[in-house]
Amino acid sequence: MIRIHFLEPTTPDWVKWREKCEQETQALISEFAKEKTVSIKGSVYKGSSWGIKDKYYFALSAPFYGKCAYCEQKVHGNQCGDIEHYRPKAEVTDIDNNPVLVAAGAGTEPHPGYFWLAYDHSNLLPICNQCNTRQKDKGTGAMIGKGTRFPVRGSYATAPEELDEEQPLLLNPLKQDPDSHFRIDETGVLVAQTPEGEATRDVLGLNLRDLPNDRARVYEDVTMKFAAMIDAEIVEKGSERSLKLRGILARYVSGEAPLSMAGRQALRDASNRTATLLAGIAKPPALDDESIA
Ligand SMILES: [Zn+2]
Repeated sequence: MIRIHFLEPTTPDWVKWREKCEQETQALISEFAKEKTVSIKGSVYKGSSWGIKDKYYFALSAPFYGKCAYCEQKVHGNQCGDIEHYRPKAEVTDIDNNPVLVAAGAGTEPHPGYFWLAYDHSNLLPICNQCNTRQKDKGTGAMIGKGTRFPVRGSYATAPEELDEEQPLLLNPLKQDPDSHFRIDETGVLVAQTPEGEATRDVLGLNLRDLPNDRARVYEDVTMKFAAMIDAEIVEKGSERSLKLRGILARYVSGEAPLSMAGRQALRDASNRTATLLAGIAKPPALDDESIA
């Protein structure tokens, strides 16, 4: 998972879709006030009339690069991918998939869902079917997949004005930098550094589904390509081979390559080792008298 910088498009189809979303959101709020329930239309949040889902959320270009916003795998042609509601649009369950109950009168009732965010682009992410679907991990039997789960610290918001106070435990790559919540090394295993990192790892199964092996392969590949690039630069500065390798490595920096989080860490580690090596050459250790003799 990496931070995704999403600048809202200004294209006519996006603007039209946003207008439609705002109208439909007002309709949902009115419907909920009357009926205490809402019917959410997939065609609205997918922007079906304008092809928003494919054109913006699953395009091969920035900012999502055809990848799942959670696990960073490419969403391949054999799966259509899902438009994910970071805050669930209807039913809400906790990390153990138990329904979230909120105060109502003298008692409690199931959380109605963050229906007012159902058509809000800041709540939408392109994700893969594996991250979205509640399923048993084949290797460990652990239940993984987002589904309707949304763990928070403390109490849940049930109205727009309460959102600022809510403390989600699931990381939102549109707003938070996962690098602050995970450590990763050549093993490809994500080591959570915060409760948010732990919850996100467990909800999405980020250390299951063969993802650590996939990240380890990226780490190794990037490490080798970085060394090859340095070699190529030494032999011939700015050579075709060096430029080609730079181009490949740049895809991890931009976030275009799958599993860029692992690739970026490999680049940081390799750069640090190179810097340490160069510092050692610049400042050779003093020879003692015995070795001079
Ligand atoms: Zn995924």
